[in-house]
Amino acid sequence: MTLPSLPPGATIGILGGGQLGRMIAMAAAQLGYRCHIYAPEKDSVAADVAAKFTCASWHDREAMQAFAQDCAAVTYEFENVPVAPLSVFSGGQLAPGVAALEVAQDRFREKRFVEQLGGKPAPYAAIDHDSEVADAVHKVGAPGIMKTRRDGYDGKGQWRIASEGDAAGLRVPESGLVYEGLVHFEAEFSVILVRSRTGEVRFWESPHNTHVGGILSRSELPAPAMVTGQVDEARALARQVADALDYVGVMTCEFFATTGGPVFNEMAPRVHNSGHWTIEGAITSQFENHVRAVAGLPLGDTASLAKRVTMDNLIGAEAFDLPRHLSDPAAHLHLYGKAEARDGRKMGHITRVG
Ligand code: AMP
Repeated sequence: MTLPSLPPGATIGILGGGQLGRMIAMAAAQLGYRCHIYAPEKDSVAADVAAKFTCASWHDREAMQAFAQDCAAVTYEFENVPVAPLSVFSGGQLAPGVAALEVAQDRFREKRFVEQLGGKPAPYAAIDHDSEVADAVHKVGAPGIMKTRRDGYDGKGQWRIASEGDAAGLRVPESGLVYEGLVHFEAEFSVILVRSRTGEVRFWESPHNTHVGGILSRSELPAPAMVTGQVDEARALARQVADALDYVGVMTCEFFATTGGPVFNEMAPRVHNSGHWTIEGAITSQFENHVRAVAGLPLGDTASLAKRVTMDNLIGAEAFDLPRHLSDPAAHLHLYGKAEARDGRKMGHITRVG
């Protein structure tokens, strides 16, 4: 069943209470919607800018049911929301749907899914038991990266394996591991797309992404020629992924640009850090188009507003150096309202256009 488009004043539910939810809620407010945040943590920077907040466990069925009743449409800003409690949503109320979560929550499943669509991930092997570690590392080869199969993000739940001996004695968690060969890439980039309820797909320009310590540090346009030459192939795969999942909303796929073509790294079934530049750098931001898709409205133009756009993440305490950030007249400063600046925590970002 397709939902009719949401009238102004309708309530959009957001599962997850972080900065992505905050920026979705701000875009929703601009379009005249109210947002209701559902998150298990009581400190929610999304709830700070939303009309309503339910602070409850993902498994609190009563709270989830009341939330479902209050919201005309529901989306998520966090891909690790458990899937079972989401059965309370019906008739296309949840967008993107559960299928996208099921694939994206499990690195092994995600890689297999993408391979079946013709994509090329890094060489990999799934590891379910301690006894399989040595074999997997031997088969794929070292150096490589050991990753938790579930729940990893921003480089967390990952260990570099320099040689086969490094993996000896590794204890495999219950949810398993995936071992990946190290990809020798020239650059990293992402494909950010939005897909409407009617299946229309639009892409933003692909930024060149630089990570430091596994965390995105900068997204930048224009991307180098090495990347732009691989964007068409990467887009074709990302579109296939979105179509296969009957996806609704913004979806991101991260790629390594290698001399052998684009290597798929991972997908995020949500708005993405490497798309924050679109707030000031594109005609329609990823957040606005996500809301439009979820609300059943026509999609906005994704064209960039300048040839050169940069987005720098503010990680940890550097975010609070306001005199420095504000002394640059070209800087669009975004702070996420987090009071505590821990090391490695994304606190805000700065975009410069042109
Ligand atoms: P992930 O959380 O899996 O996206 O990993 C975070 C970052 O670690 C990536 O953006 C890369 O910079 C690096 N990385 C992850 N997997 C690999 C790999 N197989 N080969 C080389 N670098 C990787």
